[in-house]
Amino acid sequence: MLETVTKGFRAAKNRLAGKSELTPELVDESLRDIRVSLLEADVAFDVVKKFVARVREKAVGELVQTTITDASGQKRKVSPMDHFIKICHDELEALMGPVDTGLNLKPKGQLSGIMMVGLQGSGKTTTTGKLANRLLQQGRKPLLVAADIYRPAAVDQLKVLGERLKVPVYHEPGVQPPELAKRGYAAAREQKCDVVLIDTAGRLAIDEALMSELESIKSNVHPDNILLVCDAMIGQDAVRTAAEFDRRLTLDGFILTKLDGDARGGAALSIKEVTGKPIKFLGMGESMDKLEEFRPEGLAGRILG
Ligand code: GDP
Repeated sequence: MLETVTKGFRAAKNRLAGKSELTPELVDESLRDIRVSLLEADVAFDVVKKFVARVREKAVGELVQTTITDASGQKRKVSPMDHFIKICHDELEALMGPVDTGLNLKPKGQLSGIMMVGLQGSGKTTTTGKLANRLLQQGRKPLLVAADIYRPAAVDQLKVLGERLKVPVYHEPGVQPPELAKRGYAAAREQKCDVVLIDTAGRLAIDEALMSELESIKSNVHPDNILLVCDAMIGQDAVRTAAEFDRRLTLDGFILTKLDGDARGGAALSIKEVTGKPIKFLGMGESMDKLEEFRPEGLAGRILG
């Protein structure tokens, strides 16, 4: 996972191993390794620039600090490598954080809505199922609305997921998505469900028809959450998509999918910094239990090894 990003930090560690002093030259050489791998991983250029500048400033500015006080009050010598990696860790965490995995949900028993948006193939339908599964485990009663009417397989896919999770799926052939969403809310009330998850249509690329349909759904039902499902494999494109969806719909956050594969990781590192909106969950596989709450610290740790 995230091999491309990890590579640069590994190279920097090798470069710093055994060194007794963190000179500005060593910092720059290490940051060069990191910069190349971040760009290769398709992290947004501005984000790479900022990250490198922040780490450099701290690493060079704190040259004198070669001891730290540990939890037991003991002073301990810090190797230049540990010092540098700690700065990288803190800056990676700052880039992706703070933790914000909560959803806007009314108290149990009152109806809340989650609108799932994203490009086709991003994992939106699968993630809708995963989120319903998670809500079920929290004692909620979800209902799924199949509003991706242009890809007939998506409706069937959601029905299969609903059957597997024992969660009702609302769909009516021939009804347009904004109306479907509204009727989905009514169906949820009738069936005493307390969370509606709307699986909306995706396209291969953003287009006007898609965006205005999503805006109509939003203004018809006023969902409590709008989450963009993003394929983490597509790097900077994911970030551009995210920014455009956010501009049109005002997103509450992101779910990055396929982090279990050989995702280059660019989106994970850039999306928060570029849009200001949090990553809420990570998709870590195809099955319904493979949805993790996003922990910037955990991901920074995985990246730094
Ligand atoms: P949609 O077009 O956005 O609704 O995408 P789908 O939900 O149909 O997902 C597209 C493909 O990605 C399917 O083969 C899913 O099984 C797969 N997929 C979705 N999420 C993940 C994930 O987190 N990890 C992996 N490995 N595959 C995923």
